[in-house]
Amino acid sequence: MLDIRAALQARREQFLYRQRRITTSPQGAEVVIDGVRLVNFASNDYLGLANHPEVVRAFKDGADRYGVGSGAAHLIVGHSQAHHALEEELAAATGRERALLFSTGYMANLGAITALIGRKGVVYEDRLNHASLIDGGLFSGARFKRFPHVDMARLSADLESSNEPDKLVVTDAVFSMDGDIAPLDQLAATSKQHNAWLMVDDAHGFGVLGEKGEGSPALFDLGQDDIPVYMATLGKGIGTFGAFIAGSEELIEFLIQEARTYVYTTAMPAAIAEATRKSWRLAQAENWRREKLKGLISRFRYGAEQLGLELMLSQTPIQPVLLGEASECLRIGNALREKGFYVGTVRPPTVAKGTARLRITLCADHSEAHIDGLLDVLGKAR
Ligand SMILES: *Cc1c(COP(=O)(O)O)cnc(C)c1O
Repeated sequence: MLDIRAALQARREQFLYRQRRITTSPQGAEVVIDGVRLVNFASNDYLGLANHPEVVRAFKDGADRYGVGSGAAHLIVGHSQAHHALEEELAAATGRERALLFSTGYMANLGAITALIGRKGVVYEDRLNHASLIDGGLFSGARFKRFPHVDMARLSADLESSNEPDKLVVTDAVFSMDGDIAPLDQLAATSKQHNAWLMVDDAHGFGVLGEKGEGSPALFDLGQDDIPVYMATLGKGIGTFGAFIAGSEELIEFLIQEARTYVYTTAMPAAIAEATRKSWRLAQAENWRREKLKGLISRFRYGAEQLGLELMLSQTPIQPVLLGEASECLRIGNALREKGFYVGTVRPPTVAKGTARLRITLCADHSEAHIDGLLDVLGKAR
């Protein structure tokens, strides 16, 4: 029997013990955590839409119209007009034939990967892929190959050396703990060349990147033919909840039949879909949110470089500060909190040993004073 007490104790000793903090406010540039108001540099609400009054209104109106519970899975009686309209809008948003809603991004990834690849296939994944993509690959029972981060030569060689007919290449578009963007153009070309499916998880790009928030593929001008399986989540840049997969008519019909995390689960509440429709419209129309983010990102990076902090090659709102040891990461995280700033402290096993980091995320609601205040305290805490 697993000795869970010893396991917990070991975690504590290695500075890897995780604790939840209780928030009593909505998400925003500032949050109240454990009764204390803190500047929030830890959420993925990049566009500042999670508590937007029009999104909240749409949610309430949705609840008035549809009630709270969706009552059943999509294939039974849970698929409302709100879900359906949102799917059509997401397909149009991403330039795909169709889109399919899932209740969470984790489930979308698990469901799509296991449906698209079986025991006889091979899954190729970037070593820094999100846990849900890794789990999908493992759960599929396919042969599982991880390639070093964005190592295209290695991926190409691995694809070349396989005789299996079924291949699936899977990548994050924006890597969630590093903030860098995958070379999607090269991934698309390599996958095509070797007759492999390409699946791209754009959890941190949809809404945030691209002229109108269409997501990472827009940066490379890539369409459905290049990225046949496009996945994005709705709980980050879009500020609500859920996820979707977009692609061809046939892909979506196939997933409706085969993706077990779609078939065997209750549909998200219709009111969430209504809130998301409003939120996506705001994200698309309000370009200033993306423009403001760009300005804040430059300001943060410039200031951090002046302080001699170790940044990563990221042009996205995810701006990690590399610290190395988990203990140092915790120390600085705590010092920041004492001064009124909340940042993520990311330690193994989420990231590799010796690469513990502060995961600082910027959002359109932050002011320049928030950024300058954080930099000031960071400089002193080091
Ligand atoms: C957050 C995240 C997910 C999971 O999405 P949820 O909707 O939170 O389940 C999947 N992939 C990536 C890259 C993520 O960052």
